[in-house]
Amino acid sequence: AICEQMDDPAQAKGLVKSDVIRVVSPGTRLDPEALDAKAPNYTHAAAPNNADGTVDWATVDFTTGKFWFGRAASQSDWLAHVMAQAPAETLFPDSPAGESLLLTWREAMPRSFAQTAPGFYFDSAYAAERIREQFQVSHLAAVHPALAGREGASGALIKYFQETQKAPRIPSAMRIELWALDTAMELDAATVRALELFPARAGHGLGSTRDVSLLSWLDRTKTAMGGRLLRDWILRPLTVHMQIEERLDQVEHLLSGHERLAPALNEIYDLERLLSRISLGSGAMAGARELLALAGSIAKSGELAALTTEKNLRAKLTAALDPKLVELSKLTLDVLVEKPPATTREGGMFRKGHRADLDELIELSENGEQWLAGFEARERKATGINSLKVRFNRVFGYYLEITKANLDAAPKHYIRKQTMVGGERYITEELKQFEEKILTAEKKRCDLEHALFRELCAKFAELSGPITEVARAVAQVDVICALAAVASEEGYTRPRLNDSTELEIIEGRHPTVAVAMAKQKASFVPNTVKLGARGRFLLITGPNMGGKSTVMRQTALIILLAQLGSFVPAQAANIGVVDQIFTRIGASDNIADGASTFMVEMSEMSFILRHATDRSLILIDEVGRGTSTYDGMSLAWALAADICERIGARTLFATHYHELTQLAAQYKGVANARVAVAHDGNSIRFLYRLEPGVAERSYGILVARLAGLPDAVLITAEAMLAQLESQSRKPKTPTDTNQLALRLDRPRTGESNTSLATQPRPSPIENWLTALELDNLTPMQAMAQLAQWKQKIEK
Ligand code: ATP
Repeated sequence: AICEQMDDPAQAKGLVKSDVIRVVSPGTRLDPEALDAKAPNYTHAAAPNNADGTVDWATVDFTTGKFWFGRAASQSDWLAHVMAQAPAETLFPDSPAGESLLLTWREAMPRSFAQTAPGFYFDSAYAAERIREQFQVSHLAAVHPALAGREGASGALIKYFQETQKAPRIPSAMRIELWALDTAMELDAATVRALELFPARAGHGLGSTRDVSLLSWLDRTKTAMGGRLLRDWILRPLTVHMQIEERLDQVEHLLSGHERLAPALNEIYDLERLLSRISLGSGAMAGARELLALAGSIAKSGELAALTTEKNLRAKLTAALDPKLVELSKLTLDVLVEKPPATTREGGMFRKGHRADLDELIELSENGEQWLAGFEARERKATGINSLKVRFNRVFGYYLEITKANLDAAPKHYIRKQTMVGGERYITEELKQFEEKILTAEKKRCDLEHALFRELCAKFAELSGPITEVARAVAQVDVICALAAVASEEGYTRPRLNDSTELEIIEGRHPTVAVAMAKQKASFVPNTVKLGARGRFLLITGPNMGGKSTVMRQTALIILLAQLGSFVPAQAANIGVVDQIFTRIGASDNIADGASTFMVEMSEMSFILRHATDRSLILIDEVGRGTSTYDGMSLAWALAADICERIGARTLFATHYHELTQLAAQYKGVANARVAVAHDGNSIRFLYRLEPGVAERSYGILVARLAGLPDAVLITAEAMLAQLESQSRKPKTPTDTNQLALRLDRPRTGESNTSLATQPRPSPIENWLTALELDNLTPMQAMAQLAQWKQKIEK
């Protein structure tokens, strides 16, 4: 909580009254030092509906005014959405349902700041009133027709801001938008993480662990607003064909010529955040430097518009530049000095020539020094004391100082004020008069400048609508330029989009892995991926480290790039517009958050099965690990079958379960592919080329050798493998003592064609183990049971 004195201490009697003027929390920070310039700072509010299990929510960035709302069909859908947005702060009503949702949120994102707010903030009538206040309308429908009936969360956010910032409105929130799912994808948290879209950031939890994330690679934006918009575009690739083409046209237009816009862009500051700070408490959060930056940036935006040759972008920017705003910015640049002080209370912000009354005060305070120098010289001459000095301190104000040796020469009209060891201090009538005049002039000047400054801030605050529009237009020009720069510098090609459900990427590269490898002078092998009538479901087999994940991720990234409006790293790409990208990749390490790897994997699969359509893209990398081999394999088979039969989505499915390669024989849309390797008996070389067919074997032991496992371990493993392989070919009997070992280990599957239909039934020892209630067993009882079984087996 930030407190300030409410009365002027000079005038207050007794204790000066103080009060809280602002409460600062992760979501309500506005000072630039506390914020990442290129990342949003969202505050989210969620209101669960008991009746139907839906969750109404709203998200706002108080620093920029970006504000939108939506309704999630279930709590898990809500969670997937919010995790991907990664808000800095989340609010829930203090009702039982709200508190329970808060617990769910804390479990999923333990490091994120969340709390409850009074339940009445979320009541519809109360919330509706806050929304009307914010947007100054008499009917909710004027803000957004879909708000009625789901206004709770949005209203609560406005109330939270009013309460914590002691401000009537969120300064730069001009509108509130509906989170629509029919024009853009909504990437879930698992996908954001798996595709390494964003750089690792403390507290975000979804960052990439690699050096290069897609965002950091693409981000050649020059402004903070552009940086934030690019992030939005990455998180919400478009699904409307024509809108994508429009962005691609703009990028193509600026392929050459984007460099010309860079100097203007470089000089445009963060209009959105400057506006918030300038509007709040009439500039209480900002100084003249900020105002100068805002006005200068508006002027530069005009230059940018003139330089932009792409007609749609130019039209948008020109339309946003309201003449009143341009005029006010020009005036501001004229009246403020070039390098104003950091504070607004000490004067020195305005140039001379702006107002006559201010000029007079400036003159007085600036001429004071000169007058004092003259006065000193005059008095020295009159008294003949060369060491006489005019000085100032806070207790006496201005005074004359004469050393002991010269005291006799002090004239009669000098009034003694203080005796010092080395001399005396005096004042004169003339000096007193001067002091009064100069000190009051200085105070008047400071007060007047402060008032004028607040007036200017208020004028800018009134134009927050146009300023926000300019900010958006500049951001868009900036992002398009950045995409054009990537496309031309990296030799990307324009993707061709269509409304089919086919996909053809010729010689595609992974945008970030290929670059990282090039830096290390290693060459990246481009790959072609085709999904369509002849195979919508590609089952990929091959050894660990063979490049399966890379080719899967690169396919998703190329689609994502294309649909956000970027050129792509491929020789050619024909893409039937994808409505959603789903991924189940890698071991999401949520164990610390209380979920086992297997549980996380299955939850992610369940999310995919519930949401994917025949227009979606699904990436699945090794599903079904972390449980017994046959459980895992059976689940993987059933999941694959469901995707093929019921959903029909374009799918890349990597697996080590070679049994699954038989899916191709049973389902029409399934094709087998493998990553190529070259090997002789003892060593293996990865070729990283995707080709039709089934991998011969898993090469697990050969890859382990590359990882440097000791020879002794490798030899034992090979012997074990040979034994298991020979056993897996033998008919099995329930008393086969080695069966337990076989069942608990991943089978060597390359050549063996064990189909799921011929899987053995559980052995007695497994049945016994399953039935064992460990919680009700003492160690002694356990020992006794073990001994019994050992006896049975040894018989
Ligand atoms: P695992 O099954 O263990 O997850 P994987 O088959 O998914 O392995 P990747 O993680 O895709 O293998 O790739 C492993 C490494 O191989 C990468 O980090 C990269 O260095 C290299 N690699 C992958 N694809 C290519 C490629 N197309 N060209 C060159 N190198 C590649």
